Amino acid sequence: MLRAMSQSGPVDRLIWVNGELVPWGEVKVHVLCHSMQRASLIFDFYSVHETPRGPAVFRMAEHTRRLLRSGELLGLPMPLGEDEINAAIVETVRANPGASCVKVCAYLPSIEVEVVPADDRVSIAIAAYDSLRDVVAYNAGTPWYKPELRLRLEKDRQKMRPEIIPPQCKVSANYTSPMIAKWAARRAGYDEILLVDHRGYVAEASTENVFLIERDGRLRTPSLDFVLPGVTRDSILAIAKHDGRVVEECAIRPEELFGAAEVFLTATSAGVWPVLSIDDSPIGSGSVGPVSKALRDRFHDVTCGRDSAFHAWLRFVNE
Ligand code: PMP
Repeated sequence: MLRAMSQSGPVDRLIWVNGELVPWGEVKVHVLCHSMQRASLIFDFYSVHETPRGPAVFRMAEHTRRLLRSGELLGLPMPLGEDEINAAIVETVRANPGASCVKVCAYLPSIEVEVVPADDRVSIAIAAYDSLRDVVAYNAGTPWYKPELRLRLEKDRQKMRPEIIPPQCKVSANYTSPMIAKWAARRAGYDEILLVDHRGYVAEASTENVFLIERDGRLRTPSLDFVLPGVTRDSILAIAKHDGRVVEECAIRPEELFGAAEVFLTATSAGVWPVLSIDDSPIGSGSVGPVSKALRDRFHDVTCGRDSAFHAWLRFVNE
């Protein structure tokens, strides 16, 4: 706790807060504020890549639109529109050389009595940083990273109740249920969990979408009804279609996972993340399959500006 409070020193980043660039360690919220107490903070997480044309934010517009949609679903009166948020992101990335990600948060900083805030003024904070350099190394921790995953299928704990918190909303409250399940899975030796939705169909992992590759080469992923509309998910669907692969967005039963040739997860933080086993049963050959590998490499090239077919997805911050 003391450590976190003294972060103004070593982490030499600037965080954009309501229009001003503030040193990392000087950004403050009160412990009693609404977003801490009621989990009302919404956020979106963007990746930044070094490209031959300098740093670029990947699919900035889509992430910002999803953030605004999260605000709408929650009823948060957002103080800024899409163009203003995008301009602030570009300013923040320029002010933080070497950043590899951006987190935009919108939250209620006021201290409240009721669940409904009397003061509904929303603050926006934008941080551009590098997770390894600025968070893991600073915390003197070893990064948790595995190039391939062993999953546990979490059937008891549903992702969420869509009639209460829509799964399309990237609000901190939506991460409590996956946190409990993933923590238990980690203690049992697994890397990540796969959750089912309230109907019992495959939903998504704690912070990743999921894809199956069938033995005939088709790519399948749960439709968007009860999952977060992942930007990486959408990118993989577009790239696969562009490459002539057959893709299907549909309901998937948990048993179908075990018959797939390959399974992988997708997320901004990890790109394409191959799955080796689920509940200790190997998927396919039990090693990284050829389609997962090809899409992983392909997606990496797209994000780094090495594929001209998808250049429109990059916002070059110095141009
Ligand atoms: N599902 C959930 C619940 C997530 O938190 C994330 C991470 N944002 C994803 C899926 C993957 O989304 P994206 O590809 O946009 O990072």
